Amino acid sequence: MIQPETQNRTAFSHERRILGQFYGTNKGPTVVIFAGIHGNEKAGVHAADKVIHRINESHIKLNGNLHFILGNINALNKGLRFENEDLNRVWQNDHIVELETRKENLSFEEREQRDILQIIRNILNGQQGPFYFLDLHTTSSSSVPFITISDSLNNRKFSSHFPIPVVLGIEEYLDGPLLTYINEYGHIALGFEGGAHEAASSIINCEAFIWKALVHSKCMQESQLSNYKHFKSILTDLACEYKFFAIKYRYELKGKEQFAMKPGFENFERIRKNDFLAKSNGHKIVSPRGGRIFMPLYQELGEDGFFILKKVSKFWLGLSIVARKLKFNHFLRLIPGVRQDPENNYTLIVNPHVARFMTRPIFHLFGYRQQIYKDDKLHFIKRDRKIKSFL
Ligand SMILES: [Zn+2]
Repeated sequence: MIQPETQNRTAFSHERRILGQFYGTNKGPTVVIFAGIHGNEKAGVHAADKVIHRINESHIKLNGNLHFILGNINALNKGLRFENEDLNRVWQNDHIVELETRKENLSFEEREQRDILQIIRNILNGQQGPFYFLDLHTTSSSSVPFITISDSLNNRKFSSHFPIPVVLGIEEYLDGPLLTYINEYGHIALGFEGGAHEAASSIINCEAFIWKALVHSKCMQESQLSNYKHFKSILTDLACEYKFFAIKYRYELKGKEQFAMKPGFENFERIRKNDFLAKSNGHKIVSPRGGRIFMPLYQELGEDGFFILKKVSKFWLGLSIVARKLKFNHFLRLIPGVRQDPENNYTLIVNPHVARFMTRPIFHLFGYRQQIYKDDKLHFIKRDRKIKSFL
C-alpha cells in the first residue's frame, strides 16, 4: 500500500504514477481508476487522494483489488491538457504495436503511454476479474456530472447504478480514447466527467462517483463507509433526469479555423434548430438540428467545437437488449453487401451503398459501432464481446 500525499498537491512525480494500491481478499473484483489523463483536469486526482486517505484512515477492508493511476504526469505538472498530443487519443492498436518496438524519439505523451500500458498489462495479467476501469475527467464548460460509455450491455448495466446522464457511443467520434482500447478486451469501462475543471464541486462529484463505483462493483459494502449516504446523495440530489443520450452531430474543427463558441452554454442545455451556437472565421454557425448541446469548446486545445445529443428512447434500449441477447446480429451477415471480416469475429465489412439504406442506427441497435473506412468499405465493430486476455 502506498501512502497518499493528500493536501495541496502541486508536484507530480513519474516515480509515483501509482497513487494508491489496495489488495483485499481474492474473491472480489479488480477496480482500476485513472485520474489526470488530461493534465488540466486535477479534480479526479484530488478525489482519488481523498478516497485513498479515507480507506487508510478508516481501515476499510476491500473485496478484491483497487488501483489508482495517474495519467499525464508531465502535463499535470505544467497545468496543460497535453504537451505534444492528447493522451486520450493515442490508444489505436497499430500505434501501440509500433510504440512498443520503438526505443527512441518518444514524445512526452508516448513516454506516459508506455508506462501506463505496462501497469494495465501487469494488472490484467496478474489479478482476477471482473475488471472495472474508470477514467475521471472534467469539462471546459459548466456541466452536471455525466458518464460516457461504449454501448455494450455490461457497460450500460453498470452505468445504470448512477443517477446521472449517460452518453452512448462517443467513441465513434473520437479516435483512440483509452477506454475504447480497454473495452476491446471485454472489460467494463466508464468515463466520468465530474463538472467544470476548476469547480470545487467537481472534486466532490468525482469522490462520490468513486465510492458508489466501489460499492456497485462489490469491492466494498455501503456499511463500511460511515457517511456513504452523504456521498450517495451528492449525485442523487443533482436531480438530473437520468437518461441515456446518443450523439447525433459533431462539429469538427478544421485546420487553422478560428472557432469561438457563444458564451454561456451549459452541457445538456436544450437547443433548437437554427439557434446561434458559435462563430467560425467570423461567420455565424447555427444548429443544424434540435437536441442538447454537448461538450461546447471553451478552451484553446481541442478538435471538436461541440456535439448535439438526442435522448435515447426506452423502447430502443429495450429492443437493443433483446436483439443482442437473441444474437439477431447474425442476420446482418445475410444481407447483400455485408460480410464478416475473415480476420476478426467482431467486425462486419459493409458496402457503403448498403449502409446508406441500412444506416448506422441499425448497426447501433445490434451493438456495432462504425470504426473505420477502409478500401471503400465501412467497418463496423461489435462492442459486446467475450473477455479476452491482454497481450
Ligand atoms: Zn478530459
